[in-house]
Amino acid sequence: MADQTVFRCYVCRAPLPSQHLIFARRVEQLVPTVQDGKPGNILNILQDDGLLLYCRHHCWKRHEGEVATLLRLQSTYPQSGMIVPCSRCGVPVHRTVPHVSYAITEMIVDYSEDSPVAEPIDDTEFAVLCTDCERPDAPAEEAAFARPEIERAGV
Ligand SMILES: [Zn+2]
Ligand SMILES: [Zn+2]
Repeated sequence: MADQTVFRCYVCRAPLPSQHLIFARRVEQLVPTVQDGKPGNILNILQDDGLLLYCRHHCWKRHEGEVATLLRLQSTYPQSGMIVPCSRCGVPVHRTVPHVSYAITEMIVDYSEDSPVAEPIDDTEFAVLCTDCERPDAPAEEAAFARPEIERAGV
C-alpha cells in the first residue's frame, strides 16, 4: 500500500477521516424551470474545484477568517435568492448568469470502492462573487493560495 494517497487536514495536519469538509471554488448558474406548474430553479454547477480540506468543523472555523481575508471578502454566507450582493464589492450578482461561488461542503467519502463514492451531507455557500471581482472563465487567482495537499503514505 506504499502508493496509497493520504489527504491531510489543512489546519491540524491529521489524516482526513471519511467524514470531512472541503472548501471549493465553483462556477455555477441558476436555471429557472417550471415543474408541475410551479416555478423553481435548478442549480447548474459548471465547474467545481476543491481547494482546501478540513478534518472537522473546528478546523474550518479556525481557518475561516483567514480564508475570508485572502479572498478579500466584505461579507460571508450570502442569502439565497436570485440576486445577492457580491461578497467582495457589494454589487448585485444575478445568479442566473454564470458566476463564481465558494462553498464549504461536508461529506462522507467511501474509499473502499475502486472509485471513491462521495456522499454530501451539508453544503453551505461561503461567498458569491460578481464577474468583475472574479471572472468565471478565468483561473482562480485568488484561490491559488492553496491546493489540496496530497501526500504519499510512507514517504
Ligand atoms: Zn483538522
Ligand atoms: Zn464584486
